[in-house]
Amino acid sequence: MAYEDMGITVRLILGDQLNHSHSWFDEVDEDVLYLMMEMRQETDYVRHHIQKVVGFFSAMRAFSSKLSSQGHRFLYLSITDPRNRQSIANNLEWIFEQFEVESFAYQLPDEYRLDQLLSDIAQELPVPAHAVSSEHFLTSRSELGALFKGKKTYLMETFYRTMRRKYGILLDQEGGPIGGSWNYDSQNRNRYDRKVAPPPVTQTISNVEEIYQEISAAGIPVIGQIDTAQFLWPVTRPQALEMLEDFVSTRLPWFGTYQDSMDNEEWALFHSRISFPLNVKLLHPLEVVDRALEAWHQDPELISLPQIEGFVRQIIGWREFMRGVYWAKMPEYASMNYFRHSRQLPDWFWTGETNMKCLSTAIQTSLNHAYAHHIQRLMVTGNFALLAGISPDELDQWYLGIYIDAIEWVEITNTRGMSQYADGGIVGTKPYVASANYMNKMSNHCKACHYNPKIRHGERARPLNSLYWHFYDRHESLLRKNPRIGFAYRTLSKMNPEEYKQTMQQAERYIQRMDSL
Ligand code: FAD
Repeated sequence: MAYEDMGITVRLILGDQLNHSHSWFDEVDEDVLYLMMEMRQETDYVRHHIQKVVGFFSAMRAFSSKLSSQGHRFLYLSITDPRNRQSIANNLEWIFEQFEVESFAYQLPDEYRLDQLLSDIAQELPVPAHAVSSEHFLTSRSELGALFKGKKTYLMETFYRTMRRKYGILLDQEGGPIGGSWNYDSQNRNRYDRKVAPPPVTQTISNVEEIYQEISAAGIPVIGQIDTAQFLWPVTRPQALEMLEDFVSTRLPWFGTYQDSMDNEEWALFHSRISFPLNVKLLHPLEVVDRALEAWHQDPELISLPQIEGFVRQIIGWREFMRGVYWAKMPEYASMNYFRHSRQLPDWFWTGETNMKCLSTAIQTSLNHAYAHHIQRLMVTGNFALLAGISPDELDQWYLGIYIDAIEWVEITNTRGMSQYADGGIVGTKPYVASANYMNKMSNHCKACHYNPKIRHGERARPLNSLYWHFYDRHESLLRKNPRIGFAYRTLSKMNPEEYKQTMQQAERYIQRMDSL
């Protein structure tokens, strides 16, 4: 049947809206044309990791094939389709010329940029247009802003407890937290001791050579490596479920215990790696939590309360919290820079070629897998950038490009907020900074590092130490009054003057030659 002959509704589906259970698909409607597009508008606004581009396009193609096979009508524009004009506005223009469109609908985008764009486009269209929910999140866009109205700091813990109560998760009969405590984070800070081996990352492998060739031929600028014969990220709903199942049965029992550890050899440890399928909506947050809770109910001895609570907190706590902050604070959030940091990212952020073992490991992992776990992002790359005074704009571009799960709503709130304190304390109550002692406590990196823990000053002194004190020293006027970091200023004021002078000079030398650290 030719669409030209009838009045149709065009429903737009963005690349991160792959929600198979969306009510749009409850019934097959012959008058609806679903529109999906791979576009340079989306591939080129930042330099993405090749696995991210391959992952998104593969998942989008699989989604449209699956739903087409159920009878839904799709117009899918691949990146090399000659009809593709490579932007939403330009593609809609010819689609409206080509077809007799009666109305247009889209799911509310998660990104501010796309939200603005689509609402502008919708106003200009010659037909009625409206937006519907993506039916994915557990809170509305405005819920968190309302909860913290008038507050300077948004406490995640307060939000998390509200969510636990709202969804009746891990509550006892009186409505209090099971086990008597809302949060078992203090039990989730072990270094990886090799008592138990993390399962290999081998599930959901697919061959993506064909799509990789197509992306290469299109000339999309990318970073990072890919093994096209063994692509590790789930791109279909069954693969996403398989990854969830692997996590629940083999990693969840140690998730909390080793959540904060870092290791030279193990890149995934006991992390779930489900952020990509979650963020593109192949998985729903509640189904993830329900499956984890079910496994805990079945075997509470294997999966202890701190493990399940720690995991639930990430999904219904941190993830939803970051989204709420995003919608409460955009667009101002994208330019916040509390410390006025302005240095360029050193070149080795793009190669991993630095003598600091913690950084080379985290960056190499990111380049190899389009992934690093939370502590690597926060306490290694993020920590270095904050100590060294890197511009949050530069850093956002890096985080947004390199990780397969990076979509602005969750990337920017984690980078500017949690990691860089560039929001002046909306997300966090103090900056997350650490000296080399922390790396030594939580990882085996320092033993394999070029820098020597016994040398305090000079060529091979550990950069994170002097940079740590330099950070507190240069931002004293902004941070001294923060009751959570009084210890740093007490230590600084007790430092002997010669030690203080040498430490500051050391940090400045390192900052001067940051590219060769
Ligand atoms: P797990 O450790 O197994 O955790 C389970 C899930 O909890 C994750 O999949 C994720 O959905 C959720 N979660 C955990 N912590 C957070 C958090 N702080 N914010 C939101 N969700 C969380 N996450 C992204 O999804 N996209 C990003 O672009 C992103 N950028 C980040 C940048 C920085 C500087 C930092 C510090 C964190 C960032 N995070 C981001 C949060 C977190 O690091 C990743 O969600 C996590 O590492 C993904 O790996 P995983 O699925 O194995 O997570």
